Amino acid sequence: MSTSFKAKSTHLPEEPFFYETFDLISTHIPTVAGTREENVNSIALRIDPEIYMDMCLDALEYMLDTMTQENPQNVRQIGSIPLRINNIVSLKPSNHICIAGDSTVSVWTNGEIYSCFMFYGQDKFRIGHIDDKLETSLERNSGLSTIEGLNNKSHIEQCRNCFARNACAGCAGDNYFSAKDGEIIPESFCNLVKKSLEKFLFKYVEIKEDPAKWQHFKTHFSETYLC
Ligand code: SF4
Repeated sequence: MSTSFKAKSTHLPEEPFFYETFDLISTHIPTVAGTREENVNSIALRIDPEIYMDMCLDALEYMLDTMTQENPQNVRQIGSIPLRINNIVSLKPSNHICIAGDSTVSVWTNGEIYSCFMFYGQDKFRIGHIDDKLETSLERNSGLSTIEGLNNKSHIEQCRNCFARNACAGCAGDNYFSAKDGEIIPESFCNLVKKSLEKFLFKYVEIKEDPAKWQHFKTHFSETYLC
């Protein structure tokens, strides 16, 4: 049985300039992207996956605990948690790991189009140019079909029968740059998703069993996630 919540949008313009000038409520301003080597080098500076996992699991616990309080000081989605929690709660399917090439593209300053800024400069991810008549079918656009192979769970062998498939969310570009030889999706990412889902489900059952916590959770969930 699915659970429904009364959705109340509290999505505020975080970037007033883009909101007031272009009427954009959600603006993604990435850090300056570089070549593959530069991206790989920046990833090499990352912390150990085990430490990162502990931090993410603590953040998830904190977020859920906060959502069960009557007047929490701060309820926000924590972006590093690799779960699409609104899909789990509302039992919605999720086919893509992230929105790259699915509902967004990135246009470089020279007019080249990629599914995400992270892939700039790599021919196999190039979708086209703003002056081109674009072919948008997966069979004919190699840039789109390349990203689908990394981002669409029904195109990725290891995702097809994964129990976390509808909950899993992350960054296809990050996965691409972090994957070791032979990997499409890094093992460390899948481990983090599965551990996070396990933790979420245990906490979710615990919250549902306590009427006061459940009521607060529903209220804050609807405020936090655009259902
Ligand atoms: S956890 Fe890994 S295998 Fe499972 S759906 Fe996500 S990316 Fe695919």
